[in-house]
Amino acid sequence: MHHMTLAEIARGLADKKFSSEELTKALLARIAQLDPQLNSFISLTEELALSQAKAADARRANGESGALLGAPIAHKDLFCTQGIRTSCGSKMLDNFKAPYDATVVAKLAAAGTVTLGKTNMDEFAMGSANESSHYGPVKNPWNLEHVPGGSSGGSAAAVAARLLPAATATDTGGSIRQPAAFTNLTGLKPTYGRVSRWGMIAYASSLDQGGPLARTAEDCAILLQGMAGFDPNDSTSIDEPVPDYSASLNGSLQGLRIGVPKEYFSAGLDPRIAELVHNSVKALEKLGAVIKEISLPNMQHAIPAYYVIAPAEASSNLSRFDGVRFGYRCENPENLVDLYKRSRGEGFGAEVQRRIMVGAYALSAGYYDAYYLKAQKIRRLVKNDFMAAFNEVDIILGPTTPNPAWKLGAKNSDPVAEYLEDVYTITANLAGLPGLSMPAGFVDGLPVGVQLLAPYFQEGRLLNVAHQYQLHTDWHTRTPQGF
Ligand code: GLN
Repeated sequence: MHHMTLAEIARGLADKKFSSEELTKALLARIAQLDPQLNSFISLTEELALSQAKAADARRANGESGALLGAPIAHKDLFCTQGIRTSCGSKMLDNFKAPYDATVVAKLAAAGTVTLGKTNMDEFAMGSANESSHYGPVKNPWNLEHVPGGSSGGSAAAVAARLLPAATATDTGGSIRQPAAFTNLTGLKPTYGRVSRWGMIAYASSLDQGGPLARTAEDCAILLQGMAGFDPNDSTSIDEPVPDYSASLNGSLQGLRIGVPKEYFSAGLDPRIAELVHNSVKALEKLGAVIKEISLPNMQHAIPAYYVIAPAEASSNLSRFDGVRFGYRCENPENLVDLYKRSRGEGFGAEVQRRIMVGAYALSAGYYDAYYLKAQKIRRLVKNDFMAAFNEVDIILGPTTPNPAWKLGAKNSDPVAEYLEDVYTITANLAGLPGLSMPAGFVDGLPVGVQLLAPYFQEGRLLNVAHQYQLHTDWHTRTPQGF
């Protein structure tokens, strides 16, 4: 049962081959058996899952249908879930039970999904390895000595290990696409504003965007359909109609113009990954696509700009965790300043504290122009590069990451080394563009992803290209040994 995709589950439920309750029980048992190796869940929600599954079965018995009705999923633990711990991977929120559901959670529940639990993540979504979680690191099911990528590493490891078919995730600088690449999944970061951020604990508000992690493009289309849409509670949500993503999967790629940026193939890229990217280009060419070399000249400035803007926004967003209103509070504070200092000093982990310090510094009166303002100007240049490129091509293709998943602990002593691994993903967040990572081969037994980027609101085009690629390749069907 656990090998089924969302699409297969929907068919099986419609044909009464099994019930959502049976499926839910089977997956919960599988999680209990296998997750101790991976640590991909922070909380399991068995009771909620079983009641949602029964309710979905009853709705089907009453003649209702729907691709997500009775489908088991999990939420990254930064989506607020009413009455259920929403920890954001942090000691700061270990005791926090959200008083309401995030819009994404509510929409998916209304569509009939079954929530199996809340997945592990880097603390406050800061990281590319899922090693900064208060609940311990997540392991990559392809090799338990390697990281699954971050910050949505729990969602990725769980889906890759067939503990469940799909999960929600969020992407501020790559946290959907990079773990997808590291675990052989398909992951989609939508256009900024496509999916509501209401009830999603903020890291960097101008970059954060929720999206689906699944094994196939077809499943990403199904899950995105349930997540996307205008939300009056989110002032940056965009009031654009949501297309039928599943209907977009089957278009022909004949004449599709794919741009491959020359800057992507620099010395930092593992040559074995470069070769797999070229192979995927050839496969798409066979399907009728036309390949063109393009240039994104400001790409080299994107990492420094991102690692000023994201911490700056984080330093502001995380100021609400003060030991007073919610979350962790230190023992026996001497006075108010001591309460603030120790609650934050004890509640936040090292990486979060580093980002708060960098962000507060970049925003300070003497340095604002030199760092924050300059980073914002670079952000505009990065966007302009993409706008110029999309005058010539329909899709941009390249590697998702410069290297495959590294060993646990390998980059712990050098945060900048980890930041550099985000080189291909963060530009889409800076520009607000949609991006998708899909499986494209293996290096030393570890999965490699290819990234596709498209113009604003062209999620359907990304899913179309990935689906056609997946009809003609079988990388996405490979299963990690032991799972
Ligand atoms: N690795 C990036 C960071 O640490 C991106 C994280 C994310 O997308 N949430 O900021």
